[in-house]
Amino acid sequence: MILFEKIAIITSAYEPALTDAYLLVGDDGKIAYIGGTRPDCAPDRVISGARKALIPGLVNAHTHLPMTVFRGFGEGCELHEWLNNYIFPAEDKLDARCVSACTDLAIAECVRFGTTSVTDMYMFEPTVAERIDKGGMKANLCRAITKFSSPSGFEWSGEKSTEDTREVLELFERWHGHDNSRIVVDAGIHGEYTSEPYLWEKVAAFAKERNIRLHVHLSETKSEHEECIGRWGMTPAEVLEKHGVFDVPANCAHCVWTTPHDHEILAAHGATAVHNPVSNMKLASGFAPVTAMKNAGVNVALGTDGVSSNNSHDMFEEIKAAAIMHKAANLDPSLVPAPDAFAMATINGAKAQGRESECGRLAVGFDADITMLDLDAPHLYPMHSLLSNVVFAARGSDVCMTMVRGRTLYEGGEYKTVDVERARYEIEHYAFPKIWG
Ligand SMILES: [Zn+2]
Repeated sequence: MILFEKIAIITSAYEPALTDAYLLVGDDGKIAYIGGTRPDCAPDRVISGARKALIPGLVNAHTHLPMTVFRGFGEGCELHEWLNNYIFPAEDKLDARCVSACTDLAIAECVRFGTTSVTDMYMFEPTVAERIDKGGMKANLCRAITKFSSPSGFEWSGEKSTEDTREVLELFERWHGHDNSRIVVDAGIHGEYTSEPYLWEKVAAFAKERNIRLHVHLSETKSEHEECIGRWGMTPAEVLEKHGVFDVPANCAHCVWTTPHDHEILAAHGATAVHNPVSNMKLASGFAPVTAMKNAGVNVALGTDGVSSNNSHDMFEEIKAAAIMHKAANLDPSLVPAPDAFAMATINGAKAQGRESECGRLAVGFDADITMLDLDAPHLYPMHSLLSNVVFAARGSDVCMTMVRGRTLYEGGEYKTVDVERARYEIEHYAFPKIWG
């Protein structure tokens, strides 16, 4: 048992912060007690809460973990130029060994910045799952399918299977529900513009039969959204709905150009829109209609997107960007108030992953997915409101401890589950020569 003693706690985005409180982590990895008086217990470890605060572990609801290797590569382009001229050709050279090292680097970065759960979409995803298993985070993982490897249709196995479809099956069979569902597998469609109706229907049916969620990029750029209307006479959300994609809970990354009708579709199907403010600004994709989506009843979560378009996995940057960009874009300082921005990175992210009854807030019986902040810094003083300081002033480097299910993954500069030096060595001596010769 671990007892946090006399500590400030944000239990949830919409509840008042506690001060001088106690939080007990049980041996089962769940929160056993939160309250204002010391619980009657004999903990193995007591952590003083002086100038510290606990917040729910952050949920990064859309990223591509192995893309750490592309940090700083191909700058100054919009999405499609960037993908076609830089990212796709370089990605062709990746292999499982590259992905393994780059994922380790990403996991280290995530836990360093207080992220406890991620929703990931990439290739070589069984390798990502292995690294996540070792790294100790929670994750919803998917291998997205595109039309490029199966232009005339596919089957999941047998003669008409492809490398992608075999990987989807391998990922699902080996990893779905692993470690009491610390790892969950989602179905994946890369995006409307990289796929076809046969693919949407097959992937949706796959998800439905297995009772799993689905992850897709949706209306990220204006051109992608408008070209879809040109092709089908419908928006991406409309055409995907028609082909059954929203019959299962869908995690829709970006939703920058979605319309009021699209929001009705997403809300009616219980889909999540994942806001990626930093990536959207960096690739000049636009400003997602976050307030309109929320008002329409859509669950809005938050993600970094791959660090290739960010360039970091620091969710504190996303929280702040989400909280300020809509104010400026709409000349309205009341938009996306601090609790809403924080909810996107916690409760709403947990909901996006189907984990709302296990994490996203700190409560007795919930998993001890906890991030501790060191408040002993000039930029975090004074503290009129802890939540306001967390949303607008804190940064990832203020995290001093990250815990998933009561297991410490990062503390005070030490990575407990990832060999960061080994990952760096592999990237420098294997991945770099392999990709860039
Ligand atoms: Zn993405």
